[in-house]
Amino acid sequence: MWREGRGPTVGYRPGKCETCGHETDVVTRALPGIPMSTATCHPCLEAGAIPMWALVANTAALGGMRNSAPWWGEVVDATLERLGVLHEDFHAMVSRELEAEQDYSANHEEGS
Ligand SMILES: [Zn+2]
Repeated sequence: MWREGRGPTVGYRPGKCETCGHETDVVTRALPGIPMSTATCHPCLEAGAIPMWALVANTAALGGMRNSAPWWGEVVDATLERLGVLHEDFHAMVSRELEAEQDYSANHEEGS
């Protein structure tokens, strides 16, 4: 629950939210399950949304949604809802990322 002057406002500064792209007050947060931190606005933080690139990259790193933990599914749902991205578009992005990784591996095996 938002309470003015309490915790959530600590550390906010003018900047650009790396999740929704809005120029507003942002705070630096750690990403769940990813060793990185990004600038986020309060609505994205409250929603539990993270940047789309991180969502796609980490889902692909897991090998797709079927290999991911339930809590990661909640991050995915929260982010897609916040950004208005369709699940099918998200899955297409993850598939492209997975294919790119497979191409990379294949090329490396040929080269070695
Ligand atoms: Zn935002």
